[in-house]
Amino acid sequence: MHQSSHEEFDAVIIGAGVIGAAIGFELSKRGYRTINVDKLPAAGFGSTSNSCAIVRATYSTYDGVAMAYESFSYWKDWDKYLEVEDERGNAKYFQRGTVYLRVAGGQDERFKPHFDALGIPYEEWDNTTLQERFPFYDHGVYGPAKRPDVDAFWDEPHGSVSGAIFTPDSGYVSDPQLTSHNLQRAAEAKGGQFLFNGEITDVRRADGRVQGVTLADGTHIDAPIVVNVAGPHSFIINKMAGVYDTMNIKTKALRHEVHHVPAPDGVDFETSGMHTSDSDLAIYFRPEVGNNILVGSEDPACDPKVWVEDPEHYNNAVTEAQWNAQVLRLARRIPSLGIPSQKKGVVDLYDVSDDWIPIYDRTDLDGFYVAIGSSGNQFKNAPVAGHCMAELIERVQNGHDHDLDPVVVTTRYTQLPLNMGFYSRNREVNPNSSFSVNG
Ligand SMILES: Cc1cc2nc3c(=O)[nH]c(=O)nc-3n(C[C@H](O)[C@H](O)[C@H](O)COP(=O)(O)OP(=O)(O)OC[C@H]3O[C@@H](n4cnc5c(N)ncnc54)[C@H](O)[C@@H]3O)c2cc1C
Repeated sequence: MHQSSHEEFDAVIIGAGVIGAAIGFELSKRGYRTINVDKLPAAGFGSTSNSCAIVRATYSTYDGVAMAYESFSYWKDWDKYLEVEDERGNAKYFQRGTVYLRVAGGQDERFKPHFDALGIPYEEWDNTTLQERFPFYDHGVYGPAKRPDVDAFWDEPHGSVSGAIFTPDSGYVSDPQLTSHNLQRAAEAKGGQFLFNGEITDVRRADGRVQGVTLADGTHIDAPIVVNVAGPHSFIINKMAGVYDTMNIKTKALRHEVHHVPAPDGVDFETSGMHTSDSDLAIYFRPEVGNNILVGSEDPACDPKVWVEDPEHYNNAVTEAQWNAQVLRLARRIPSLGIPSQKKGVVDLYDVSDDWIPIYDRTDLDGFYVAIGSSGNQFKNAPVAGHCMAELIERVQNGHDHDLDPVVVTTRYTQLPLNMGFYSRNREVNPNSSFSVNG
């Protein structure tokens, strides 16, 4: 699009991260004239770029598990979903499975009944099977998670994990930024447009309806539909639109570090490793190119939470304290891990909702929608969220009262009914949530 003082579209999508681009694709597929506007220079350059892009269904709630289960099918046949080949190539899904280490009171007690109810395949491994598959994993129980600067961190384990749950359909995506670019190309093939280096500074409204957005250079883009998919900036956009105070569930930005360490000598983790979820030590890890291990945190209570008031300004350098916490926890699980002196990793922001469950909803401002609060766990669900948001938007624009009678979306692959009321902006904080990245 050439910048000019005035343009008109059916829908403006604020943000071209993986979720914004997916919504652009799904709406343009339905014939909407869409434009994704992003202040950064390319798709997926925001928080998506530093995502671990793990695809798993180990959520706490039935709805969370059902949505993530649906996502597996998109990733397994990404090329077919996109319908186009990106000139940069399409992102690859490594369907290596997930191994979830079992401890008393662990997350498996929440997700397993939902797996059973939904018929999601999994295997229960005893410690012998776990040992055969991952001989370099220690089986000790160390939790609750502690920081390495307390003596108890170094205590001997108090018992053994009770085997693991293995889910064969899960895995991770090679390149989250490329994934967003793929969705951009797919949307463009349906007529969708993208505007980069365009910062939205106002959401214009009149008579209780959204009118469009204004950019920093003064450009007006008019549309009867505006969707806030601004990731960690979501609360700023909601304030701009005057809806922040009208929502029961709020979002805020949380700083998060992910570290890269080489796999131990003699271990080919890149091809034989697997995404491992370790609630005992409050870490998750997965293989990374170059035979590295990428380790993130489940934000245990002992770790200080760094809430960020201005998502433009935060410390984006790996800190020694958090490196030690995450990497030394990993070293308890993989005692042969060598700890490099050079600290490598990424730092980015989660857009965390009050209950770590996203908000996929309309708002009190007619025509203004939100796909926010992705809480460090919605990369995998981007295509499902795209589908659900397009369906919700279409129904509401056609007069459906979603607040009174929540839209139920039948998913494409698993044909499950997803009740979008679960993701309502006006829900009470969901007590069944793990209040962590596990949703
Ligand atoms: C370190 C880390 C690890 C993660 N690991 C996983 C994982 O393993 N699995 C998983 O499922 N999820 C994971 N997540 C979560 C997942 O990456 C996010 O949920 C997802 O990427 C969010 O996508 P988005 O499109 O909503 O946001 P973003 O990618 O943040 O995109 C928002 C866009 O909005 C733009 N924007 C903001 N304000 C404006 C404005 N005023 N004008 C114009 N543009 C604006 C930004 O520039 C940005 O590009 C992780 C997240 C992080 C940070």
